[in-house]
Amino acid sequence: MNGQIPTREKMTTIGDGGKRFWLYPAKFTGEWLNRRRVMAVVLILFFFILPWIDINGSQAVLLDIADRKFAFFGLVLWPQDFSILWFFAAGTAILVLFLTAQWGRLWCGWACPQTVFLEHVFRRIEIWIEGDARQRRKLDQAPISVSKFSKKALKYVIFIAISSHFANTVLCYFVGTDQVLHMTFQDPRENWGWFTFMAFFNFMFFVDFAWFREQFCLIACPYGRFQSVLLDSDSMIVGYDYNRGEPRGKLRKNQERTEGDCIDCNRCVAVCPTGIDIRQGLQMECINCTACMDACDEIMFKVNKPPKLIRYTAIADLEGRVRRFMRPRVIVYLVLVLALYGAGTYLMLFNRGLKFQIVRPPGQSFTLSEADAVVSNHFEVKATNRSEAIWTVTTEVPAGFEVVTPRNPWEIPAEETATLPIFVRKQKTLFNTSGKERAVVTFRDERTGAVLYQTEVTLMGPAQ
Ligand code: SF4
Ligand code: SF4
Repeated sequence: MNGQIPTREKMTTIGDGGKRFWLYPAKFTGEWLNRRRVMAVVLILFFFILPWIDINGSQAVLLDIADRKFAFFGLVLWPQDFSILWFFAAGTAILVLFLTAQWGRLWCGWACPQTVFLEHVFRRIEIWIEGDARQRRKLDQAPISVSKFSKKALKYVIFIAISSHFANTVLCYFVGTDQVLHMTFQDPRENWGWFTFMAFFNFMFFVDFAWFREQFCLIACPYGRFQSVLLDSDSMIVGYDYNRGEPRGKLRKNQERTEGDCIDCNRCVAVCPTGIDIRQGLQMECINCTACMDACDEIMFKVNKPPKLIRYTAIADLEGRVRRFMRPRVIVYLVLVLALYGAGTYLMLFNRGLKFQIVRPPGQSFTLSEADAVVSNHFEVKATNRSEAIWTVTTEVPAGFEVVTPRNPWEIPAEETATLPIFVRKQKTLFNTSGKERAVVTFRDERTGAVLYQTEVTLMGPAQ
């Protein structure tokens, strides 16, 4: 890094004694903020509306851990589909590594619920009630008064209402919207477990958005902690162009500046929701929210300089090197993502529905009924129904053979594995002299007659 850039020694929000410095990020405008607002509105609507949408009779997204049912836009997965879930979850984890290596903390700035709700909902309400940074600071420092009390009370009542709606929506994703609606009109004592869950999350969301705020990104978020290993000099970051900006210096009246473009106005610091100075280089606290980009563009416009002194860039760009898009680790990530998603898709398409397995119980060969001279072989059929439909299946054997089973037709419940004993029989006199016969066992859908599974079994009998 450029030697002119000062290095950082401590977190901007933590004082010497560990005391937290409360941040008052300033209001700003700009094209990146407008884009992020559109994105935030879409995401917020998506989040609140999705639990009310049904696709193929299932909630669009449902993570019902208690009933072990997971629905994603019409695809319903059950515990027996764990392998599909695993492949998609592992693929998504690697996809996050790939996206971060390429585009940095795009997720944090544009799509993380913490940023979306804090910056586009809670902070806006706070600014609407208490004013811009200077007024908010003044209000906090002022002694209690009717005006201060009413502003704070109004703000917290709105925060609690939004947090409550947020918590109820989260519950809809885990329990199901119908169930949440049902519980809403019941006595809380009848669902005390879920009620406690909801009240706890309501409290946690309120504390997070009203007080904890940027500390969540700085201290609690595991994704933020991994940035130093996920980013490299070719990853996209929000960066300050120190080649153009330095040496910085104050703008003096009627004096033409001949040094760098940064006029040291600190506007980029004033708007930063994590309180950092982007001019100090890439920092773990930077959530790539683009606020400093907008703020600095506004200043550059006012001082007649080109915009983008702070911009989306990469360390390689700032150091004058060519930014590499494809690097070995990025290629490895991409290959892994494709392989894991491919395996998950394969299992989803070809390993669902009804699966049969037919085996001879250990230690059994055949039985011979002396009375009617029939050779009988015992098999166990195991059918796994990985669908939401109940299947009714008939079992058949070719002419010359007979199948005896307690259930024919046989009903296989949805999302269950069922077993059925079957006895395949043949007249002893018609039996092959080698003592072995082959028979094709067919399982058909009783309703349509379609063959669901067909396999050849070997019958043992007395050698003649
Ligand atoms: S440095 Fe800029 S992009 Fe990073 S968090 Fe602060 S304002 Fe957002
Ligand atoms: S907003 Fe721009 S000009 Fe002002 S201090 Fe930050 S980088 Fe320098």
